Amino acid sequence: MMFDNSEHTNIDQLGEFGLIDHLTKAVELTEKSTTKGIGDDAAVLDFSGDKTLVSTDLLLEGIHFDLRYVPLKHLGYKAVQVNLSDIYAMNGVASQITFSLGLSSKFPLEAVEELYAGALLACRNYHVDLVGGDTSASAQGLVISVTSIGYANEHDIVYRDGAEEGNLIWVSGDLGGAYVGLQLLEREKRIFLDNPDIKPDLEGKDYIVERQLKPEARRDMVLLLASVGIKPTAMIDISDGLASEILHICHASGKGCRLYEDKIPIDQMTYDVAREFGLDPTVCALNGGEDYELLFTIGQEDYDKVSGQADISVIGHITDKASGCELISKSAKVHPITAQGWNAFGLK
Ligand code: ADP
Ligand code: MG
Repeated sequence: MMFDNSEHTNIDQLGEFGLIDHLTKAVELTEKSTTKGIGDDAAVLDFSGDKTLVSTDLLLEGIHFDLRYVPLKHLGYKAVQVNLSDIYAMNGVASQITFSLGLSSKFPLEAVEELYAGALLACRNYHVDLVGGDTSASAQGLVISVTSIGYANEHDIVYRDGAEEGNLIWVSGDLGGAYVGLQLLEREKRIFLDNPDIKPDLEGKDYIVERQLKPEARRDMVLLLASVGIKPTAMIDISDGLASEILHICHASGKGCRLYEDKIPIDQMTYDVAREFGLDPTVCALNGGEDYELLFTIGQEDYDKVSGQADISVIGHITDKASGCELISKSAKVHPITAQGWNAFGLK
């Protein structure tokens, strides 16, 4: 479906080195901390006394993405974003990535170019240098591995384990959209597979489709928090859903929490389309995942510094461990928060 209109240049014609040269010739280095990028046995970085942050992800075709509805350029972009998100979740600055590829024989050069164009666009938009990678044939399917590298002053780094009783729990952006977008894409894929003549109907649903296909890591939040002089006590990015992430913070910190359903930010389109699919929008926010928003805790004394800021919502507070992790529903019922809370509401 993806390469129908493009030329098919066999990668074997280029060879491994030819391919690497071809893909990386557009790479520009802009970060001060990059001493040496692609072209030697290792990149050389210099963080001048700051701590180095490193995070890596592996993405496998058929497990993490489905090329029947994910355009390759978006996939390259997203592969980078999900990695940068981990650096921002440490309250750090992302500055470099490595981008590694396993390519099965079904991928022509043009497909790899698309993937790479997406990755490079993400690098440009987020001020990150591509400093290396590895390229190999794959027996089956596409394999992508991205490592993100960043830095922070050791006093600025925020871990998951620093939440304190009474801290307010904040989240950036809105939740559940990526999951509902995925449901929409899956539905259109099924329709397409049944009848390839029917065009996908995603009209007017750009926001949630983009939430799924083209997430934006919250670099801006890290900058915003710094600009108002706030260091969260704990922080994590929302890759697996709000429920799972708040449990990570609470477990690491040895605390409990209370979240309020009516405070969870959910976009109207997310809400409406979830309902259309017979899904509870709150459950989508709690368990959907892939929103790549930041979830963080801040002392109450800092409330005024954060409360006026756009695109941040307070959704609850940290309690003691014995109180457990609870969600107060809109009808004031108390539900325990579980990592796979699909049934917590008695809904599918
Ligand atoms: P080695 O044999 O040491 O693994 P390679 O020939 O694989 O070296 O890589 C040569 C250079 O090209 C290195 O700087 C490496 O980081 C870079 N490189 C290889 N594959 C990629 C890729 N997919 N994206 C970016 N850089 C790459
Ligand atoms: Mg190599």
